[in-house]
Amino acid sequence: MTTKKNPRPGPKAAPTTPPRTPARILELLEEHYPEAWCTLDFENPYQLLAATILSAQCTDERVNLTTPALFRRYPDPASLARAAIEELEGLVRPTGFFRNKAKNLKSAAGMIVDRFGGRVPDRMEELILLPGVARKTANVVLGAAFGVPGVVVDTHVKRVSARLGWTKSSNPDQIEQDLMALWPRERWTKLGHQVIAHGRSICAARKPRCPSCFLGELCPYPQKEKE
Ligand code: SF4
Repeated sequence: MTTKKNPRPGPKAAPTTPPRTPARILELLEEHYPEAWCTLDFENPYQLLAATILSAQCTDERVNLTTPALFRRYPDPASLARAAIEELEGLVRPTGFFRNKAKNLKSAAGMIVDRFGGRVPDRMEELILLPGVARKTANVVLGAAFGVPGVVVDTHVKRVSARLGWTKSSNPDQIEQDLMALWPRERWTKLGHQVIAHGRSICAARKPRCPSCFLGELCPYPQKEKE
């Protein structure tokens, strides 16, 4: 039997700064925003789709004030598809860009009736065929109404992800791909809402509150700003 000599201890490894892998950041986001979820009010996929279309360039609070009357008047895609456009414009006016939004809502409802049997589709490839629906809106609907994991890339996710060094791209589709590669699939939907919550409360566009941010030590942005 041969015995192996103990390997000579090598030089001590230099202390390293904690790796900026997202794992710890994801843990902290879960700790700080355990309840983060879609802040639009809805009772079914149709309502969430309409509310998400209306939320472009508008706060969720304002959308939530606008949609009850809209859903009372048009409770399903079939009634929305038949809407008189002037009346519809009047109902969605408070959310801004009301002409375009009314047109998209009516056309999307028409397509849902004609092509999808009156039911909001639950697949990305079909959702993005609807007028006014790009991947962001589709991911909101898939995640919150159908439970299909999806990464929502809105203005907050774009900004916070860039600052955290999670993406180098400014293209939403590429950012979505970068985050999908970085985040565990089962957490895609909730993490999107947690990052949005962080962007709203701490990592604001103009004045991020880095000195008091719980991600400060893991985020490259404050250092970059000093350089
Ligand atoms: S440290 Fe600053 S830039 Fe980084 S996530 Fe926090 S607030 Fe945003």
